[in-house]
Amino acid sequence: MAALPPVTTSAKFSTGWAVAYVGEMGTEATDAMTDATTTHHRSCPLCEACCGLEITTKGDQVVRIRGDMNDPYSKGFICPKGSTLKQLHEDPDRLTSPRIRTEDGWKDATWDEAFAEIQRRLNPIVEAHGRQALGTVLGNPNTHNLGGMLYVRPVMTAVGSTNAFSASTVDQMPKHVSAGLMWGRPDLFPLPDVDRTDYMLILGGNPYVSNGSLFTAPDIPGRLDALRERGKFVVVDPRRTKTAENASEHLTIVPGTDAFWQMALINTLFDEDLVDVGRLAGHISGVDEVREITARYTPEAVADRCGIDAETTRRIARELAAAPTAIVYSRMGAHTTEFGTVASWASDVLNALTGNLDEPGGVMFNCSPTQNMAPSVPGGRGFQLGRWEGRASGRPEVKGELPAATLAEEITTPGDEAIKGLFVLACNPVRSFPNTDRIDEALQQLDLLVVVDPYVTATARHAHVILPPTSALERSHYDFAFEANMIRSFAKYSPAVFETDQPSEEQILSRLALVVQGMPVDTDPVVVHEQMLGQLVDAELARDSSRIHGRDRAEILEELSAWEWSEQIIDFRLRVGQYGDAFGQEADGLTLRKLIDEHPSGADFGPLVPRFPDAIKTVSGTVELAPQPIIGDMERFGAHFDSLGAANDQLVLIGRRHLKTVNSWMHNLNILIKGKTDCTLQVHPDDASRLGLADGGSASVQSRVGTVIAPVEVTDEVMPGVVCLPHGWGYDEPGIEMHTAKTKPGVNSNVLTDDGALDDLSGNCTLNGIPVDVTAA
Ligand code: SF4
Repeated sequence: MAALPPVTTSAKFSTGWAVAYVGEMGTEATDAMTDATTTHHRSCPLCEACCGLEITTKGDQVVRIRGDMNDPYSKGFICPKGSTLKQLHEDPDRLTSPRIRTEDGWKDATWDEAFAEIQRRLNPIVEAHGRQALGTVLGNPNTHNLGGMLYVRPVMTAVGSTNAFSASTVDQMPKHVSAGLMWGRPDLFPLPDVDRTDYMLILGGNPYVSNGSLFTAPDIPGRLDALRERGKFVVVDPRRTKTAENASEHLTIVPGTDAFWQMALINTLFDEDLVDVGRLAGHISGVDEVREITARYTPEAVADRCGIDAETTRRIARELAAAPTAIVYSRMGAHTTEFGTVASWASDVLNALTGNLDEPGGVMFNCSPTQNMAPSVPGGRGFQLGRWEGRASGRPEVKGELPAATLAEEITTPGDEAIKGLFVLACNPVRSFPNTDRIDEALQQLDLLVVVDPYVTATARHAHVILPPTSALERSHYDFAFEANMIRSFAKYSPAVFETDQPSEEQILSRLALVVQGMPVDTDPVVVHEQMLGQLVDAELARDSSRIHGRDRAEILEELSAWEWSEQIIDFRLRVGQYGDAFGQEADGLTLRKLIDEHPSGADFGPLVPRFPDAIKTVSGTVELAPQPIIGDMERFGAHFDSLGAANDQLVLIGRRHLKTVNSWMHNLNILIKGKTDCTLQVHPDDASRLGLADGGSASVQSRVGTVIAPVEVTDEVMPGVVCLPHGWGYDEPGIEMHTAKTKPGVNSNVLTDDGALDDLSGNCTLNGIPVDVTAA
């Protein structure tokens, strides 16, 4: 067992965000700091970077939020969003008690009334149509929220339907599928080892703004700046993003063609005899099949279609092969396309063929402290797609879910098992799922819509019952989701900053699970927690009893019982984890108590270590470079490639993200939306001139499914032929109670996204490369 490290401190700031955003609090903060105050340390729960925050309070007021310089992982870095937990906490639009829809409009309700109303509406649906007439929708805030993360599962189990949807099929399912197919573990993401690499190729990712996606590394700008100094990073993107601006090199690419271009890189590796899988030789299969399926995608063949000349493609392939260590990392721009899974797969084929899979400086895998890293044998049950299909859409299940794009169809297509009762847990499908108008209409047909959300959003305004969770400052936090994506082995616990009378998310979701099961509304929700914890302990006992020091189930549960619900789970998982005390076996090992007392800013256990071949869980026990579903998708892939050859001057739409927002949650804070509107249609000057569009004027943008009128920004940031709208905006519908956001409503890009255009393998939406007609308005 590794010794627990001392807390390290650092004054390193790469961009000055932390300093700048202390300043946002102004002189009021400075004056208040002279009185007695309390300092809290916690992780920022707003995005995947998990930066450490130092929060100073006086009584029930936050007087300052800044980056925690003692956090050994983020070292004081925060972005402009990090200091806004105070404004989110104090937002007058944030609900603190449930709402029930009545004939006369909304009524504030007690929690008992809210759960009774859910049961009143739910029972007739279940009696008449069964549980298959129910559905669930999960949003990504659940992964940033300890209670949401742990307790949505009992709700889904209680619902008992295969109609499960989530934001994963909007933005990340291709990565799950390629990981599942290649190494048998859909949740084991390849994590770019940015700090130790010599070379990084980024396709369709903008980590300077997103702060990392599907990998957690606070201060990505600082880490990439350091890489540029010691090596090289190349960005491939149709838009000159902030990351592209700071890159060693930026290549523009035709939207939706990243997969084809990566095929040409693979083709070059074979053609120029540059393939070297390194240490994993003997644990990788399918190399010859990859050579075969990439044969037609030469750099010359893809050049015109992708907009990258053949010599540049060959040069990049050579650079990848020659670099001592290298990473290929593709994200949203490449994955949210009709061939998103192939794009994701191709990136990891490149990592494997250049010997950079599971190697320091390449892409590596989860080594989080809550992992029990006991040696295991390669091989397992693998990963299956299509275990069931959507009743109406016929689309196959992926990782237990149906595509988000098919939710409306599963509600509106008549039938006994059409969805009539829906539980939306921290999600806003009217804003974030494709074809807004269709989903908006569909939700209004439901007999029961329950929404767990602190705001009356575009979705919640259609709810029959809204259940508001506590604010982020009123709950404790441990990043179970994102510690698995960290590029170092890191543990941090964040106690709640404020107490509250509101029920915790653990309690809300447990009560909801019981009500959905048909239990009386006054049933003590602790039974849900006890069942869940018992199952967790049983599973560990069955898997590896060596980490519980000869204790039996009852003794373990008794020892954990001193903690609150989620804390019992954290303590258990830390103690059986790789640095844990194994319930007394390792006297100096990690416990939750030790983490809180000795490492309030977090404990850093060092960089990731190789995990293959043990962690490979495909049926063959090898990393499968040519899994059958990918091979099977090659015909569709090839046909699409051929169609790209046809002359076509139609504009295509791509999305973008801004530093000050994460999806739609952040638009109700004046501090983040003040100034010039971010919600503009970016158009290249050549296209603007051809179409008669003026900077500051308006344009009508029409896709197959909808039309929006958006303000025009003429800029050479986007390549010719491409227009760009940010996502998450559009607050002008009646009934949304986000009053600051409504002062700058913007337009909703998902009015334009097509619910009929999906990546077949993952069911993921197409958010990039949408054909549109643009005219002056
Ligand atoms: S980068 Fe993400 S985690 Fe860090 S302060 Fe900003 S929003 Fe919070």
